[in-house]
Amino acid sequence: MKENYIVSARKYRPSTFATVIGQNALTHTLKTAIASGKLAHAYLFCGPRGVGKTTCARIFAKAINCEHMGADGEPCNQCESCIAFNEQRSYNIVELDAASNNSVDDIRGITDQVRIPPQVGRYRVFIIDEVHMLSSQAFNAFLKTLEEPPEYAIFILATTEKQKIIPTILSRCQIYDFARITVPDIVAQLQYVANDRGVKAESAALNVIAQKADGAMRDALSIFDQVSASSEGNITYQSTIENLNVLDHDYYFRLDEAFLAGDVPSTLLIFKEIRDHGFDAQFFINGLAQHLRDLMMASSPRTASLLEMNDDVAQRYVLQAAKFTPQFYYKAMDLCNTCDLNYRDASNKQFLVELTLIKIVQLIAAPAQPAASAPAVKKIQPAATSQPATTAPASKAPEVKPAAQPKPQPAAPVQAAAPAQPAAPAQPSHAQPDEQPPHPAEAFMPKQTAQPTCRSANHAPRVMVNVHMDADNPSAPAAGNKAETHANNQSFTNEQLLDAWQAYIDQHPHEHLVINTMRTSKPNRLTDTQLEITVQNIGQVNFINNALPHILDFLRNKLANDAITIDIKLDESMPAPKILTERELIEDIKTRRPEFNDFLEDFKLTLT
Ligand SMILES: [Zn+2]
Repeated sequence: MKENYIVSARKYRPSTFATVIGQNALTHTLKTAIASGKLAHAYLFCGPRGVGKTTCARIFAKAINCEHMGADGEPCNQCESCIAFNEQRSYNIVELDAASNNSVDDIRGITDQVRIPPQVGRYRVFIIDEVHMLSSQAFNAFLKTLEEPPEYAIFILATTEKQKIIPTILSRCQIYDFARITVPDIVAQLQYVANDRGVKAESAALNVIAQKADGAMRDALSIFDQVSASSEGNITYQSTIENLNVLDHDYYFRLDEAFLAGDVPSTLLIFKEIRDHGFDAQFFINGLAQHLRDLMMASSPRTASLLEMNDDVAQRYVLQAAKFTPQFYYKAMDLCNTCDLNYRDASNKQFLVELTLIKIVQLIAAPAQPAASAPAVKKIQPAATSQPATTAPASKAPEVKPAAQPKPQPAAPVQAAAPAQPAAPAQPSHAQPDEQPPHPAEAFMPKQTAQPTCRSANHAPRVMVNVHMDADNPSAPAAGNKAETHANNQSFTNEQLLDAWQAYIDQHPHEHLVINTMRTSKPNRLTDTQLEITVQNIGQVNFINNALPHILDFLRNKLANDAITIDIKLDESMPAPKILTERELIEDIKTRRPEFNDFLEDFKLTLT
């Protein structure tokens, strides 16, 4: 075994339909067709990578040429033809990988071959892998052959991207859709391979490998080999997660407990621990999303079957799942999703994830928030600003106005983005010397929010306005334009809108005139999808107008809402407010709110 080691993906490649994993219905249909002799001239095998498309194509070619084919349509694997197939020396099978051979000449190599009848056996089978990669000229050259194939020729086209196959090809093929292989199916096969190789393997370890393989048996076997090589014949859960750099799901279960306790500091410390182990923040947030998704599935017997894991792991999820409400799962998953979407564009990624975690804790800590709109934004506000958790947003709203926008301007929309700027220099004089800032950690603890220490009210909303750049800034006359939940198309929050707006700016650095205007003129929401921006001169009207189709495309795509429109409004009375970058904004918060700095220090957090 040592000197002649064959990788598992090859050694355990199925040689009969019966040994193909996870495609039972499909292989049954194929076998029936073969056994009854009802063969088509062209087949299209579709599905993700590593699920057995090429394998089935080869078994198919072997079976229809087999000299002693079984009544069930399986090849005998013993006759001369089968042996020639298994030793890869049969002339009756021709394979072309169109991923790397997609020219007209390449396809001509195949069509020339098609004219040669089989010397032995009955059929010649032509397998074109990744057929969607063929150039359009190659496609056309191939189409002629496909339209009038000789009696003995059978084509099996395989693709991971069915939607890229042109209709003229689709209409000439029998189509077979291969499914992703389920985790339990992969685990069972890995267990078989482990036994066959004389390797001990914990089922939780095989579960990790199967999940990592994401439905592809070939990948699962390669990963198995890798883990097996470093585990010296004993594959444990611990050795597997270390080898594969998989995050131990214990971290997520610990986070659950911190969420339940409303314990923000613990949450952030666990996140730090995870980062210290070298895990990327986005990887973590996606892992958390998956964990929450699994918990939600586990919370109902009806959806427990959707858990992709083996039974002992699933049992733990079922027990844990009962501790949360469905509402929590929906909102927490949504927060993770938003974080993931914004991740690439965020200049401070760690901060984004921390903010998301804090919002998740707040879902449990402050469930009775009356705010109907943008609940996550509202909920974080009381905790971060030490205001009583029960404060209704309405009572706070008027306070924002004097502090954030000393000189309210007639044109409201653009102001929402820049309220902090004018107030910043005056900040030191607002600070009360006798004012006792809460302990930095406590400031984030919902249980401490009702403490009597009353901070000056005009400090408080600024953080909210800055961080979230809320468009429902009460200083705007059109304060009714709140983020609300919409039924039509995909709804989006003001925060997401501004993120998308910023993303356009970030991704089009060379469109100076346009993005400079976009920086100073943030969109205001007139209705769910009708946006308005106010610009200061006719030049800006033109810049935006010219780029409008682009911007609209981008926003509609980014926010998944095709109904978005933008009105451009000219307002010459508007002063040009300076818009802070996210970086400047955080620096600004740090300067004006020293306790935020202390907080970072206390927990050894850094803003990168
Ligand atoms: Zn045979």
